[in-house]
Amino acid sequence: MLHSIRWRIAVPFVLLILASIWALGFYLSNFMANTYISNLRSHLTEQARLISNMAEPYINVDTEGLDALAKELGQQIDARVTIIYEDGWVLGDSESDPATMENHADRPEVVEALSGAVGVSTRYSLTLGYQMMYVAVPVVSDGAEIGVARLALPLTEVNAYSAHINYVVAIAAAIASALAIVVALLIAKVTTNPVRKLTQMSRRIAKGELDQRIHVSSRDEIGELAQTFNQMSAKLREMVSLISGTRDKMAAILSNMADGALIIDGQGKVAMANDAAERILGIKEEEMLSRSFIEVARDHELADILTRCMETGEQQSGQAETELDRRFLRMIATPIETDGEAGSLIIIQDFTEQRRLETVRRDFVSNISHELRTPLASIKALSETLCEGAIADESVARDFLERINVEVDKLGQMVQELGQLSRIESGEVAFNMEPIEIGDVIAWVGQRLRPQADRAGLSLTMEVPATLPQALADREQVEYVLLNLLHNAIKFTPHGGQIVLSARVAGDYAIAVSVADTGIGIPPEDISRIFERFYKADQARAGGGTGLGLAIAKHIIHAHGGQISAQSTEGKGSTFTFTLPLASTHSPKP
Ligand code: ADP
Repeated sequence: MLHSIRWRIAVPFVLLILASIWALGFYLSNFMANTYISNLRSHLTEQARLISNMAEPYINVDTEGLDALAKELGQQIDARVTIIYEDGWVLGDSESDPATMENHADRPEVVEALSGAVGVSTRYSLTLGYQMMYVAVPVVSDGAEIGVARLALPLTEVNAYSAHINYVVAIAAAIASALAIVVALLIAKVTTNPVRKLTQMSRRIAKGELDQRIHVSSRDEIGELAQTFNQMSAKLREMVSLISGTRDKMAAILSNMADGALIIDGQGKVAMANDAAERILGIKEEEMLSRSFIEVARDHELADILTRCMETGEQQSGQAETELDRRFLRMIATPIETDGEAGSLIIIQDFTEQRRLETVRRDFVSNISHELRTPLASIKALSETLCEGAIADESVARDFLERINVEVDKLGQMVQELGQLSRIESGEVAFNMEPIEIGDVIAWVGQRLRPQADRAGLSLTMEVPATLPQALADREQVEYVLLNLLHNAIKFTPHGGQIVLSARVAGDYAIAVSVADTGIGIPPEDISRIFERFYKADQARAGGGTGLGLAIAKHIIHAHGGQISAQSTEGKGSTFTFTLPLASTHSPKP
């Protein structure tokens, strides 16, 4: 309790008031007692002088009369009257028999009175058992002190008087103290109220509730403190919002960066990693924290770049192909200061995809030139032969020109397919999605290619359930895919083989369409690549195709949200299957 300012203000205040009241009381009670005593003394002195005058004629004359006088006067003035002879023996006393009284010559007041002065003494009376005041004056006869007239009064009254004063002072002190406590507490409360408010606000601010303002109207030091507090909290708010704004921006930049960013602290441990770093390195940030970079990157070439950067204190960069998953990474390590220590900022770029695209582009160019070279070479050879004279022989010339025509058709088909592929890839082709009957498409494609199948000595059958629901697709594009697959099946199935076109519901959302043959099959190592453009399995090179058909088919099916795949056993046959979305899940029939 005493730790609070309120009490620290109130307690000294009250103590001070109490001390003042007690000091005043003490002084007053002393002062009153002294005044009373001094008044009493002069009063007693006057009465003693009167008694002295009255006693003077009796001394040395009538001792008994003197005692009677003392007794009578004692009764009248309500004080003890004693008349003492110059030798100290008591001649008359208002309260005792003088004969029984001891010699008073050594009493200080008596000694003093006998010397001619007024003797005053206050002491405890053994006879009476309380404080007494004695006032003695000489009894003078013919200029000589012949005795002493003494008056004595008990001081019990004085003490009672003092006690009363003390009592009054004590009551006053108690009332004043109570009032002082109340007033002190009120003052302390009023004074410390703003301080308490400030404390509450500070607590809230400490909890993070920065939107605090205190209203203090006083213009004193506390008012000034409150004002400063308000300014401080406003500044704090401003700074916090500035810092959090900057932090949010930084966090947004870091998490949306395509490049991985890591901060390595002074001990070489990961202190921060962004989303891209998690993705590229395949580890969550929590698992990276406090681990060394080599543990996280799991690649010596990358770790070396960081080591060089830390050793030289200069930016270092380099590339590496990761040992684990064969990805191409570019890394830049820059020395920075983190928490007062020398750390590093690492930026990692994954350019595996660029490398792949680069390879694809290079392969594409080389494939296309390869594909162009064969027909161009035969056209060249045929036209040269014609020029060299074969043109003169009409039947040879006709044959050559027909062959040139075939080559030109091949080139034309390639150009057309390339164009189609590029249009689909770039999204230029608008798909006309509508509910279609797959059974109809299968029937139509089968009908178109049946003559070819017959010529190749192949049996062609179709298996479509009567209840097959409609698919949501672009009919023309699906026809193209199916024609292509069936065309390949005819092309790669030897005489006497079988081809089955079928369709079925696959799961809740799709229809699966398959073209199965009993042909030459595809080597396992080629299966994953036959959907790439220009890719042809070795045996098929003689087939004379462009190698673009499956690539186009894949793009068309993907554009429908479906999948296309091939299963094959070399020498036994292949099955190509693609899926299309059900029309009912997209636009339910009424
Ligand atoms: P192409 O014009 O050469 O047929 P595709 O893209 O249609 O081009 O096919 C790519 C390659 O996939 C073919 O060259 C062939 O090697 C292989 N292939 C496609 N369909 C079959 C199949 N039914 N049986 C065996 N191989 C096939």
